[in-house]
Amino acid sequence: MSEKLNPWESQLTNLKKVSDIMNLDPSVYEVVSKPMRILQVSLPIRMDDGSIKSFEGFRIHHNTARGPCKGGIRYFPSLELDTEKALGAWMTWKNAVVNLPYGGAKGGINCDPKKLSQGELERLTRAYAAAIADFVGIDLDIPAPDVGTTSQIMAWFADEYYKISRRILPGVITAKPIGLGGSLGRTAATGRGCYFTAVEASRTYDIPIKGASVSVQGYGNAAYYSALNFHQAGAKLVAASDTRGGVYNKNGIDPVKLVEHKAKTRSVVGFPGCETFSSTDPLTVDCDILVPAALENMITLENVDDVKAKLIVEAANGPTTPGADRVLDEKRIICLPDILANAGGVTVSYFEWVQNRMGYYWTEEEVDQRLEKVMKTAFKDVYDYSKKYDVNLRYGAYALALDRVAEAMRLRGWI
Ligand code: NAD
Repeated sequence: MSEKLNPWESQLTNLKKVSDIMNLDPSVYEVVSKPMRILQVSLPIRMDDGSIKSFEGFRIHHNTARGPCKGGIRYFPSLELDTEKALGAWMTWKNAVVNLPYGGAKGGINCDPKKLSQGELERLTRAYAAAIADFVGIDLDIPAPDVGTTSQIMAWFADEYYKISRRILPGVITAKPIGLGGSLGRTAATGRGCYFTAVEASRTYDIPIKGASVSVQGYGNAAYYSALNFHQAGAKLVAASDTRGGVYNKNGIDPVKLVEHKAKTRSVVGFPGCETFSSTDPLTVDCDILVPAALENMITLENVDDVKAKLIVEAANGPTTPGADRVLDEKRIICLPDILANAGGVTVSYFEWVQNRMGYYWTEEEVDQRLEKVMKTAFKDVYDYSKKYDVNLRYGAYALALDRVAEAMRLRGWI
C-alpha cells in the first residue's frame, strides 16, 4: 500500500486528528498549522580549490507562544523545506511536552558535511551564523545540533555570533563544547532521555529492560547513547545500522566497541562476530525494544507488519508514518513517540541555557538527576492524557502539548 511520505503533512495529520478528538477551538489549529516565520538564505563560500559555491540555508520559527524558540541545525544533502517545517513544529510540541519555556524552531543547510573539509565547514557555518544572526538570540531563538552537526560547529556559530553582536552570549546556542560553556551530560542526553522514558514504559506496561534484546537503526549520537544506556541496564544490543549497512548478533554486541569500530572505519559494517544486515533490517528483526534513531519515515505501511518489537522508543524525529502508527496500535505495540522519547536532548540544552544565563555550572550528577525528573514527569503527563482521551501515547503527547501551547496563545491574546 502506498502512502504520502511528507513529514509536514504527517505532522498536520496527527495535529488535526488530535485537535478533533479534544474538540479544541478551531482557531488553535488555524494558528499552529502554519510556521510563524521562514527565513531562506544563500551562503556563498570560497571552497578549498578557490571556486565559489553557494549553499542554501533555512531557519524556521514554528511557534513562540511559550517562549523563545529552540531547535537544532541540520546539515544534510537534499534538505527539504517541508521536512524542516515538520522538525520545527515537532520542537514546539516536544518543548511543551517536557514543559520547557520554549517555542519550536529548526534550521539547516543543504550540504553534505562528509564531503566538506574542516575549513569549508567552518566558513559555511560562519556564513550561516551571519545570515541568520537577526533571527537568533538568547531571548529569541536558540539553535543546537542535529543530524550532520557537531559541538565544534556550535562553537564556530557562537564565535561568529559574538563578533556580530559584540557581546559574549554563550546562551545563544547549546550543545557547545564544555570549554565554551557547554553543559556536562549534554552529549549523552538524548539517549539517556530515551532510556529514562523506556524505564517508565517498562514499569507501566510490564516490559522488562534487563535481559531484553534491543535493536537500533542508525548509529550516531542518539542511537549510540540509547544503546549504551540499555546495555548498562542489562539489556542486549542485537542489531545496529548506518547508511552503509548494518550488523546483527543475537548473542549481543558491545556498544562501546561498536562505536570505536565506527569511528575507525566510518561504519558499523564489518564489526567482528556479526552477520551483515541492511540499513533497514534492524527495524524488523526479532527484538524486544526497537530504537529507530536515523531519520523520518522509516516505519511505514511497507514494513510495519514485520515489526516484532514490544516497545518502540523513537529516538529519531518522525520515524513512523501515521499509517504505520495505526498498524502498531492494532498490533498493540507500545510506541514512545519522538516528542516525548527524544526530548532529553533539548531538556539538557535548556539546562545549558539556564547555566549560561546564571554563569554557574552544575555537576554531571545534578544534570542527570534533573533530566530524570523531567522525563519521568513528562511520561506520566503523556500517559494521563492518553487515558483522558482514550488514545495512544503519540496522540496523548500531542494533546498535552496542544493544551499547553493553546493556553499560552490564549493568555497572549492570539486566539
Ligand atoms: P547523527 O548524525 O549523529 O546520526 C545519524 C545516524 O543515522 C548515522 O549513523 C547515519 O549513518 C544513520 N542513518 C542515516 N540515514 C540512515 C538510514 N537510511 N538507515 C540507517 N541509518 C541511517 O544524528 P543524531 O543526532 O543521532 O540524530 C538522529 C535522529 O535523532 C534524527 O532524527 C534527529 O533529529 C534525532 N534527534 C537527535 C537529537 C540529538 O540531540 N542528537 C535530539 C533529538 C532528536
